[in-house]
Amino acid sequence: MPDVFSNPAHPYTKALIQSVPRAGEPLIPLTGRVPDLIDDPPGCPYRDRCERAYERCLEEVPTMRPIVSSRAVSCHLDLIEEVQADVAPVD
Ligand code: SF4
Repeated sequence: MPDVFSNPAHPYTKALIQSVPRAGEPLIPLTGRVPDLIDDPPGCPYRDRCERAYERCLEEVPTMRPIVSSRAVSCHLDLIEEVQADVAPVD
């Protein structure tokens, strides 16, 4: 069964996994600012580090939504079609 490490769906999770150093491969660093846990402005906490952020992400905190059985993400994007086809979508 694909899991969050082999098949990440959330954009920030994907970026974190891509940023893990691997021997012989170029480093892919995260960009933007780390979420401020004390002075947290409105919107998605990952908006400053997410390459897919758009206007809604600056204003509204995403709610947790199921994408496939046993997995959910907190993101405004429709990520269901982005997970592997061998994972059964939630009805
Ligand atoms: S809600 Fe927006 S900023 Fe947050 S992870 Fe999704 S696309 Fe990125």
